[in-house]
Amino acid sequence: MQPKSRHEELREGQEWLAERRGIDVAYYPFRSPRIAGLLIHEDDGGYCIGINSRMILTRQLFSLAHELGRCALHRHVQAMFLCHVGRQDRPEREANTYAVQLLMPEHAVRELQARGKGLRDLCTYFGVSRAAMEWRLEELGLR
Ligand SMILES: [Zn+2]
Repeated sequence: MQPKSRHEELREGQEWLAERRGIDVAYYPFRSPRIAGLLIHEDDGGYCIGINSRMILTRQLFSLAHELGRCALHRHVQAMFLCHVGRQDRPEREANTYAVQLLMPEHAVRELQARGKGLRDLCTYFGVSRAAMEWRLEELGLR
């Protein structure tokens, strides 16, 4: 058996979290490059997150965390959310904040940085883009 990539480990961790919350996760190659993901409240009370599988892996992971945030924070607001790339209204920002904290927990970022890990190592470890990692380090005052 092939050893798992770091990305697979991280994705499975989030899928496990979704499952525990009664949320199905599906990957679909949406044709629109603007659709990052969506969240649907199904009639039976369950939820489904759809991730655009055409996007790069770091983006898919972020979308999954973002939709988990949507479900945790906004599931009572409406039955369906469609998340477009670059949309920046308040609920979107709240879901992004949730995703950032889920993907790059403060204690872990601080600990790895204190151990001298560079930007590239941090990106690999957390499965995020360089821009997202830089933003998080900045936010925590580590840059
Ligand atoms: Zn969204």
